[in-house]
Amino acid sequence: MNKWYKFLLLITILSCCMVNYAINIKVRLLSEYEPTSIVVSTISGKYNLICDNNRIAESLETGNAVQLSYYEGKIKVERGIELIGTFHEVEFIGAKYNNVFSLKGDILPKERVYEENLKVNIIGKSLLLVNNINLEKYVAGVVQSEVFGSSTDVEFFKIQAIASRTYCLANLNRHIRQRFNVCDAVHCQSYKGRCTQPDILRATYETFNDVIVDSANKLISPAYHSNSGGMTESAGNLWQYDIPYLQSKTDSFSIGARNYEWDKILPKRLWIDYFVQKYGDRYARDGEYQQAILNWSQPVRQSHWVVGGDTILTKEIRSYFKLRSAFFSISTQGDNVYLKGKGYGHGVGLSQEGAIEMVKQGYSCDEILCFYFNNVRVIKYTEIIDL
Ligand SMILES: [Zn+2]
Repeated sequence: MNKWYKFLLLITILSCCMVNYAINIKVRLLSEYEPTSIVVSTISGKYNLICDNNRIAESLETGNAVQLSYYEGKIKVERGIELIGTFHEVEFIGAKYNNVFSLKGDILPKERVYEENLKVNIIGKSLLLVNNINLEKYVAGVVQSEVFGSSTDVEFFKIQAIASRTYCLANLNRHIRQRFNVCDAVHCQSYKGRCTQPDILRATYETFNDVIVDSANKLISPAYHSNSGGMTESAGNLWQYDIPYLQSKTDSFSIGARNYEWDKILPKRLWIDYFVQKYGDRYARDGEYQQAILNWSQPVRQSHWVVGGDTILTKEIRSYFKLRSAFFSISTQGDNVYLKGKGYGHGVGLSQEGAIEMVKQGYSCDEILCFYFNNVRVIKYTEIIDL
């Protein structure tokens, strides 16, 4: 089947599914940019322009654009050389079946394209852009933004779609005081616009409404990372609070993948200075203390080791030296410290490279989720929440 025909067919199927379960969420766009000026263009469909609850007579047809800019605590709206006015709130409400708009501005490296409605308010001295969009379309956009390129397998995209949907629904109140549900940055989930990949749209459609719940039927927090290094980390070890479905386990599926191993060489002086500054100058003077930080190994993941009365946390070393993981062993090579590490990321929950390998070996998306998250089930969210 022709790629574009397949894409259009999937868009249509996805849109039809959504008619029955129209759950919309509010996503802040360009969260990291604090835009003061932006051009909004209609890419397809038609938009009605509502300014301070009054509809501007002329609709925005395909190809039409308006410029919005911050002006003395309000939004200045211009269309070409015509000034429409200055307002507190500006809304772009889709008036046809498939309404798509784009955002362009000096702050953006390239134009971004989104679906459905847009509401603009002022936040601080910049524009607050909020996309009101169907959850499933948002999920497909997130999967494309976060993982496209790391795999081409629909089963892997299904895992990401379920995880992304679960995360979103479990975090609907994360930004509620700021008048939206989630932001489009990694603080919530990266979302750079509408999904254009047929395989991701298909994966989203095939997992429509699916979410992961724990043994108490509560939505889980589906933590994931790039590679576990052969063993995942428990939430209790990393974050100091135990989560039953995020336990440490052996993960042979991650072994040998691209981010399975790493190494790093650091000057011994730099390494010792870290311990001197953090725990005291005994690490510079005392041979026993020095040995304890120059030779140490992790055959299995350990969150810390103890030297004298000091508890040394591997996650703090990871953060300070910007290491790929906290799963490393230490030895010396002349005047240098040699770190040999495994895995990439915090190690809690699902290993993406492990999941990709499981897909290759024929495991289903549900089996893979149940491998990385203990005692969970994949169910339709309509079974547990009343939205
Ligand atoms: Zn956020």
